[in-house]
Amino acid sequence: MKIGGFYSDSISNGVGWRAVLFVSGCPHHCLGCHNQESWDKDYGEPYVEDDIYNQMMENPFLDGLTLSGGEPFLYCQELFSLVKRVKARGLNIWSYTGFTFEELLRWSERNADVQQFLREVDVLVDGKFLIEKMVPQKRFRGSGNQRIIDVQASLKKQEIVLYMA
Ligand code: SF4
Repeated sequence: MKIGGFYSDSISNGVGWRAVLFVSGCPHHCLGCHNQESWDKDYGEPYVEDDIYNQMMENPFLDGLTLSGGEPFLYCQELFSLVKRVKARGLNIWSYTGFTFEELLRWSERNADVQQFLREVDVLVDGKFLIEKMVPQKRFRGSGNQRIIDVQASLKKQEIVLYMA
């Protein structure tokens, strides 16, 4: 797995003070994507889990880690260990994805890596960026079809629970 970038502190990729990891490789190819270089899975630098983790641990004020891309759900197996370590330190996980939550649920029924990864995500910003539904004023989203989902509450209730409207 390659990564296109890492910010050790950001306040614009989820609620609170966050680290942000941009993975490389995206199958969605949304028209108007602002990060087209991330479509190539070979873009960027090799992912080194300890580097990311250690940089995060240098900031005692972080609230969590946001996974972006690219498409994080291409790398459920590779990211799982980092996510577990980060959560063990009391931090939360946000993930962007071009898949819908419903698509991920169906995928997770036949893929244990996706299932165990999804169970560790706290907040999911789901769906492709649709330029015809662009809404610049919505927090943390590019287009109106994208939802900010409370994953744990949604899994428990077996229905979509929004984290933020
Ligand atoms: S899912 Fe995200 S990274 Fe992938 S093409 Fe769409 S906007 Fe770009």
